[in-house]
Amino acid sequence: MNYINEMTLTFESHSINEGFARSAVAAFCVQLNPTLDEITDIKTAVSEAVTNCVVHAYPKTKGEITVWVGLTNTREIDIKVLDSGVGITDFNKAREPFFTTKPNDERAGMGFTVMESFMDEVVLSKNGKRGVCVFMHKVLERRKSAIGGVNG
Ligand code: ATP
Ligand code: MG
Repeated sequence: MNYINEMTLTFESHSINEGFARSAVAAFCVQLNPTLDEITDIKTAVSEAVTNCVVHAYPKTKGEITVWVGLTNTREIDIKVLDSGVGITDFNKAREPFFTTKPNDERAGMGFTVMESFMDEVVLSKNGKRGVCVFMHKVLERRKSAIGGVNG
């Protein structure tokens, strides 16, 4: 994919950083002139992915979370949320609605389902030996972008 603009954020797995990551990604995506609904979708998906890193990837210690965003001149947004935590053994199981390994922790098991419904594509893979990479893709509706000329 050819990106016209990219950014990377790395921060510690404190739950307070979930709001920071969500807002930072939204602010970066604004240059593509998304609709309010599209921005809300992206914020919600990033929020779920980052919360998973905070809650599941590093249950005992704090670790690093990296969020990468790439924008294309065809009004597409790619997002990766990466951790180096405990990992997921069964990706298909983890994606099932209502599946959670923390049922007593007020977890609904709906995070991945939410990401899938708000983004056009969600791909799970390993990050390094054990961590998780959540790749998300969204195509914005046809409008004029603030960057890269007239697109879409
Ligand atoms: P909810 O998101 O509704 O609060 P949840 O986080 O348990 O609940 P999902 O976000 O769908 O539900 O995640 C499903 C399961 O996948 C989690 O319970 C957890 O076992 C595992 N998981 C998700 N993200 C990670 C991660 N980054 N590292 C390790 N395990 C993860
Ligand atoms: Mg979750």
